[in-house]
Amino acid sequence: MKIKILLLLLVLAFVGSMPFIFNKTTTPAEAHELDVDGNFIMYDWHYDDFKEGQRTGQNPEWDYNLKPVKVSERVWCFFGAMEMPTKENAGMMANSCYIKGETSWILWDTGASYIFAKQAYAQMKKIADLPAKTIILSHEHDDHWLGNNYYTQEHGAKVYGPKSVNVNYLGYDEETGKPFEGTREHPPQTRMERALYQNALRGTHLKGVDEFFDDTTELTIDGVVLEYVKVGYVHSEEDWFLYLPEDKVVLAADVVMNGRVTSNRDGLVVGQLNALKEINARDWDYLVPGHGFITDKTAADETIQYFALLKERVLEGIEEEIHPDFITKYVTLEEFKDKDLYYLLSPGNVFRSYEELEMYDGDEEDEDDEEEEEEEE
Ligand SMILES: [Zn+2]
Repeated sequence: MKIKILLLLLVLAFVGSMPFIFNKTTTPAEAHELDVDGNFIMYDWHYDDFKEGQRTGQNPEWDYNLKPVKVSERVWCFFGAMEMPTKENAGMMANSCYIKGETSWILWDTGASYIFAKQAYAQMKKIADLPAKTIILSHEHDDHWLGNNYYTQEHGAKVYGPKSVNVNYLGYDEETGKPFEGTREHPPQTRMERALYQNALRGTHLKGVDEFFDDTTELTIDGVVLEYVKVGYVHSEEDWFLYLPEDKVVLAADVVMNGRVTSNRDGLVVGQLNALKEINARDWDYLVPGHGFITDKTAADETIQYFALLKERVLEGIEEEIHPDFITKYVTLEEFKDKDLYYLLSPGNVFRSYEELEMYDGDEEDEDDEEEEEEEE
């Protein structure tokens, strides 16, 4: 009798778990904003669309299934998933763009791997059969530039970007940004090297920056006018965005994200707010975030609101003398709780901002600091 009841319970448990066992697809709940042509900017992550075994580590080559989205007359972008880098997305969780010059492609960031870059180029070649001769990088995080060596090896591309890429990843000299005698021969593993399957990572070598600029620079490359704007310590140690005045397009990279909570693990709230002001000081119709699908006039709104609230509430917490152990309980950003990665990243952003703003606040009030400043002068 007891065995019968046990069996019955087992059957019931199995039936109850059916929806979970068979629910293997990811379906975005809502369509995203429209692009310049009125098409949905939609990157759907129906893993069922892929042939059996296509996105596993066992194939000769990972298939990123890339579809470029036209953002403006001369700009196309690849939009990544709203996730952290994982085996399942093979690092395709950041946005990167192609700008069409007169005789070549100009790249804004190059994605997470050699194979990503190779497959992205194959798609762009269908739009215009031009070589990719210039790379411009936004910042040092590895989801944005590990595709570099595809373009430098196969197209002879030149890389412009922040010195921090060379210094922090390749161990190059801080002053010159070039290799020196003590440069380590084997750079440390990046996140992608730890996360990706070999068939997605194969061929990827760290290729640093060839030429740096000290400050905001106006360039005309292959007929395209570009303003490469240095915003400094914002989301990483050294962030830049790209403005195309003739196209009224801002390529913001991780200074702006939407649809998901930003990662401020290496960033500064005050830097973020200043950079957002710099962006809004320009006349733009389209803005491509580093992560997220919204590219219209509202593209930067979420980030502006997030950092304004973060600063206000953390400063309030400091005023109330909340102990750092409790700051992530005291400061929440409930307005963003439905955004991707909220639970994973927002508490960390609060804690990081607490550390930053506590010092920022102290500078203004602490007498010892004032004395120090006088000595420096
Ligand atoms: Zn980043």
